Amino acid sequence: MRDVVVVGASLAGLHAARALRRNGFDGTLTIVGDEPHQPYDRPPMSKQVLAGTWDAGRTGLLTERDADLDLRWTLGRSATRLDVGARTVALDDGTALAYDGLVIATGAAPRRLPGTESFAGVHVLRTLDDALALRADLDAAPARVVVVGAGFIGAEVAATARGRGLAVTMVEPLPVPLGRVLGGEVAETVAAVHRDQGVDLRLGVAVDAVEGGDRVERVRLTDGSVIACDVLVVGIGVVPSTGWLEGSTLPVADGVVADATCRVAPGIVAAGDVARWSHPVHGDIRVEHWDHAIAQGGHAAETLLAGDGARPFAPVPWFWSDQYDRKIMLAGRPAGADEVRVVDGSLAERRFVALYRRGDQVVAALGMNRPAPLARWRLRLADGVGWDEATAPAEA
Ligand SMILES: Cc1cc2nc3c(=O)[nH]c(=O)nc-3n(C[C@H](O)[C@H](O)[C@H](O)COP(=O)(O)OP(=O)(O)OC[C@H]3O[C@@H](n4cnc5c(N)ncnc54)[C@H](O)[C@@H]3O)c2cc1C
Repeated sequence: MRDVVVVGASLAGLHAARALRRNGFDGTLTIVGDEPHQPYDRPPMSKQVLAGTWDAGRTGLLTERDADLDLRWTLGRSATRLDVGARTVALDDGTALAYDGLVIATGAAPRRLPGTESFAGVHVLRTLDDALALRADLDAAPARVVVVGAGFIGAEVAATARGRGLAVTMVEPLPVPLGRVLGGEVAETVAAVHRDQGVDLRLGVAVDAVEGGDRVERVRLTDGSVIACDVLVVGIGVVPSTGWLEGSTLPVADGVVADATCRVAPGIVAAGDVARWSHPVHGDIRVEHWDHAIAQGGHAAETLLAGDGARPFAPVPWFWSDQYDRKIMLAGRPAGADEVRVVDGSLAERRFVALYRRGDQVVAALGMNRPAPLARWRLRLADGVGWDEATAPAEA
């Protein structure tokens, strides 16, 4: 293999590039990214950057050692088409890059609320530019911020905006935010944290219309209520960035589909938020977590170099979210669990570990302000842990 192209100049792509070099690839390594920036870290975008406590420069992912990787950067350019037969990636400037190895790491893009495109003051949050634009609007001390969607991004934006002393309303169509993922009681506890912090939480109700002049002025909800606002943040999930693969013959189904080793086709691998792959324990999944993008980037690179000797990728998915003074950590896949049980601390004190059971196995552990136990559960989940053993009272 002499020419590897990585499409997506962010977390998964950078870690794939590092792993290629670490594993001895010494050919040409080109990274294509449609943002004008060198790779930066996204988690601070809803936390420190939005709060104004970090400059954008502090989020850069490249270190001095990356200079030794001899990477060819093609930034501010989109991949527009993939020709699998000819082994070329076409770019939006009309040029094409030839490859014999390809890493697909194009991540995901935020869903937008239809009909809001014309209003100033309406934001999504995915990129550094998104974060700086939203921060500028928050700096102007708006009378009220409305956040649509109480998933992790929406909840973090609400927490950061409250931290800046702003009035926040969070609107969520589900009766309990993240209820399907975290289970009723745990999700209720996360919601209660926001209420305690003064967020006006509107549950079981959706946005009917967004109104205003040049700028957003109010949001009309499906229960007939109207909320005046000057900043609206839309956090209703993401769509994997696979548009450039249309017509390429690669399998796409809510992400580009890879096998257990992260291989999509001969000479093509995928990693990060864009990749749906076959996890030996959890089945076909796509994971939108920071730690996962790093690990899968590295694994996909190894698969690209390994040929038939490639190994399956079987991590314990791992995620954290900072909301106010609470750190939520999640190991495993809780959705669809048969039972949720608090095994440490209590929901009432908002400091706990909850385990999730499917069949007779623990499939996930969630901690609120319990980082050390969660790290241990993550290790135990990697080995597989039975429910009875995990929930048995500790011997004296
Ligand atoms: C605001 C925010 C806060 C987060 N907080 C947390 C957190 O607290 N904990 C956690 O675990 N995870 C968090 N995440 C998730 C984590 O950041 C992502 O899982 C991670 O960034 C995924 O990395 P990736 O490289 O797969 O994709 P991305 O980071 O999305 O990068 C993909 C890159 O490819 C580019 N691209 C897309 N299409 C093309 C194309 N056709 N041509 C060229 N380039 C293209 C994109 O513009 C982007 O630069 C957060 C995400 C966001 C947005």
